[in-house]
Amino acid sequence: MKLKDKTAFITGAAQGIGRAIAVGMAKEGAHVGIADINVEKAEAAAEEIRAFGVKSIAIKLDVSKSEDIASAFNKFVQEFGKFDILVNNAGITKDAFLIRMKDEDWDMVLNINLKGAFVCSKEAIKIMAKQQYGKIINISSVVAFIGNAGQANYSASKAGIVGLTKTIAKEYAGRGIRANAVAPGFIQTAMTEVLSEKVKEEMGKMIPLGCFGLPEDVANAVVFLASKEADYITGQVIHVNGGMYM
Ligand code: NAP
Repeated sequence: MKLKDKTAFITGAAQGIGRAIAVGMAKEGAHVGIADINVEKAEAAAEEIRAFGVKSIAIKLDVSKSEDIASAFNKFVQEFGKFDILVNNAGITKDAFLIRMKDEDWDMVLNINLKGAFVCSKEAIKIMAKQQYGKIINISSVVAFIGNAGQANYSASKAGIVGLTKTIAKEYAGRGIRANAVAPGFIQTAMTEVLSEKVKEEMGKMIPLGCFGLPEDVANAVVFLASKEADYITGQVIHVNGGMYM
């Protein structure tokens, strides 16, 4: 098992990509904290995880509430004894063309997608630095690299994730902390389910492999980065996008 007895805190893990990451890590022996704004769904996910014979708890957390993050991490460390892996996965979209984009929708997306990852990383690093070990894996997006009409806020937040990741990698390598990002393309989750069939078809044409990815495709890359096999990798972005951006 690649992650036997490691402990992982995953934000936005009640469904979609975060949940697939939680399952992927549990299958490799990690104990998993399922942090999500929706604690009922998080509890259902934790129950699914416990079936793999590892420990799992649901933690109610809105990552845009900076003041709640340290206490959520304390709860996690009290339960599991250490903090090996943080996955900053929680993310939302609030799409509109730029001149129609409301300031509050810009702020909301940046607060959850980017500031949430910043504060979670800051609080996790305080613990990981004392351990002299930690892995931070941030979920970016293909649109950070190619842009997307209607997603100025989202694309900016996901590009910010890349800069944040590389900076953490440089600042804390000396403390045994690795930071990497995974940039998914279009993945079949609730986030993309809302797109019209026409838009999905158009997007499908942009993907050389010809179809949307599955949450498990992203989870496999995250599990690899979390594992010992990736210990010499830091400050990198793994693209999981069916070839739509190379
Ligand atoms: P999803 O199905 O919408 O799941 C996101 C989860 O995060 C939901 O459980 C959601 O809860 C939760 N969440 C929302 N706001 C939160 C907050 N403030 N604090 C904590 N949890 C919060 O999305 P997904 O497709 O799995 O996306 C996961 C990550 O991958 C996101 O960062 C997304 O930007 C990124 N990504 C996705 C795709 C894609 O094609 N799906 C592509 C590239 C990148 P509620 O449902 O209750 O709001």
